[in-house]
Amino acid sequence: MILEIVKYGHPMLRQKGARIEIITPEIKRLIADMFETMRERHGVGLAAQQVGQALQLTVIDVRDVTDRPSTLELNGQPADPAEIMPLVLINPEIKPFGDPVAAGEGCLSFPEIYGEVTRPGSVEAKALNEKLKPVEFRAGGLLSRVIQHEMDHLNGILFIDRMTKKIKTEIREQLDEMQAASKAELQKK
Ligand code: ZN
Repeated sequence: MILEIVKYGHPMLRQKGARIEIITPEIKRLIADMFETMRERHGVGLAAQQVGQALQLTVIDVRDVTDRPSTLELNGQPADPAEIMPLVLINPEIKPFGDPVAAGEGCLSFPEIYGEVTRPGSVEAKALNEKLKPVEFRAGGLLSRVIQHEMDHLNGILFIDRMTKKIKTEIREQLDEMQAASKAELQKK
């Protein structure tokens, strides 16, 4: 089922996600629906907050992106990122590392906004998968960026928080409009 994606201005996007201790049929359904929703919108990552659930859960799939490479290290060995896709991260803990890299970023909760964000180039991630089995790996390139972006969502942090003042000023008007529209929408409900 395609889920509604909440947009900037919705308070859910500022909520820290609760840890998931068991995979209930509802969580299983939610994971499947999040993948379906993400693919329909041509996204590469989607966090539970974006579909209105404050949970430590994100889904990621970067396989369709060919112009921005990703790297993966499994057990200290280089591996094909496709090996762990589609990727479900539950209760993730990450350690970003490496030189900062500036690159364009978008977010399904910010339609039509695209801006440069600087993040460490690599990330070490530990999480549980959809079967609550531990997964551990290092990622670089686009995959590292997506993981850091989604991890932020799980903590109520948004990519605009990591943009420079200059870029944020450039998109200020769009942001204000989006926020006002989200608030108006909420009042109708
Ligand atoms: Zn996002």
